[in-house]
Amino acid sequence: MKLQLFKSVTFKLILLVLVVLFSLISASLLFNSQIDRLKKQIDNLYFGNFVPIIKLENIQDNYKKIISCRTLKYICDFKKEKEIILNEWDYYYNSYKNKKERNVINSIDVALKETFKVNKLYKFKEIVKKIDFLIDYETQSAYKQRKFFVEDYKTMKDYLFFNILLLLVLTFAIVAYIIYQLVKKDNQLRILNTKYKIDSITDSMTQIYNRKYFDTIFDNMTFIANANKWECAFIMFDIDFFKQYNDTYGHDLGDVALKKVANALREYFNNKYEFVFRLGGEEFGVILFDIDYDILESCLKEINQKVVDLGIEHKTSEVLDVISISIGAIIYEPNTYISANKLFKRADDSLYKSKHNGRNQYHIYKGK
Ligand code: GH3
Ligand code: MG
Ligand code: MG
Repeated sequence: MKLQLFKSVTFKLILLVLVVLFSLISASLLFNSQIDRLKKQIDNLYFGNFVPIIKLENIQDNYKKIISCRTLKYICDFKKEKEIILNEWDYYYNSYKNKKERNVINSIDVALKETFKVNKLYKFKEIVKKIDFLIDYETQSAYKQRKFFVEDYKTMKDYLFFNILLLLVLTFAIVAYIIYQLVKKDNQLRILNTKYKIDSITDSMTQIYNRKYFDTIFDNMTFIANANKWECAFIMFDIDFFKQYNDTYGHDLGDVALKKVANALREYFNNKYEFVFRLGGEEFGVILFDIDYDILESCLKEINQKVVDLGIEHKTSEVLDVISISIGAIIYEPNTYISANKLFKRADDSLYKSKHNGRNQYHIYKGK
């Protein structure tokens, strides 16, 4: 039973860890994939659009150098410019273009290469215009690309936000459910446990502590008294002429009377440091921590009266016509190291004295 319980709790904890782990991994994958898309877009924007423009501008600049040299009628050797132009053009020409763009570029390619064959000023000027057109075109494309990018970026952002939100809500719901299940089980077990503990120390008939619990507390009473420097009292109660009560009113009514007396004791000794037990039959015991002689005496006087005041008819009692109790008590002084057995015996002797002296009274053991 215990092992199965352990297995089920372990399983739930593992599930919990897996759910959290899964959601973290999913969130990071989701994030990563979107960031990758974003990076690609940025790469496109920079390398796909701006690089061609830079190349074209470089071609144009070099053509302009050639034109100015030719216009000013210098003797120019534009070998270097030609090489740059052809290299840059080569790069531009070989980059990706769609079919329509390819047609235009092919025709410009022919015209560009012709400039160096024909070597005429007007040809250089013509090609500069064509390159101008290409720069304009590429700039337009870059703007368009940027527009797409901004739109895409927005969709990505929304996608990320809603998916991560959904993931978080789902994770939260599953984790909350698992925790709820665990707590519920834990609570149920705790209640069962507490009930079992209470049951095991309670007398089922009178609902006060049982003999077993008395033994535990009584065995520890002197230790507690010594440790706290408290005077403690042990009191024994016995119902007077109870045999006769049973004989007169029957065993069932005897039980009812027993419960009433037990209840009166429980209600009277109801503090944190006061313990009421059924020692057996119609005998009860009370342990009081941190008490003194005068208080104990007034308590015993009162409890004698309280039981009489219950007014439980007892025609065959030789003391009164109602149920009464006899009491024997002893006070334990801290660090006097009297054994529990001796304390019990002395309290019992005191009870006997009460019985012997006429019942419905108390007797507190005096002497060391
Ligand atoms: P005394 O004043 O000397 O104590 O007289 P007594 O008749 O009470 O004498 P004793 O203590 O010897 O008798 C106890 C009686 O209590 C005997 C028994 O029938 C009765 N008794 C013990 N346990 C129970 C119980 O659980 N229910 C009922 N109804 N009676 C019980
Ligand atoms: Mg008795
Ligand atoms: Mg009795």
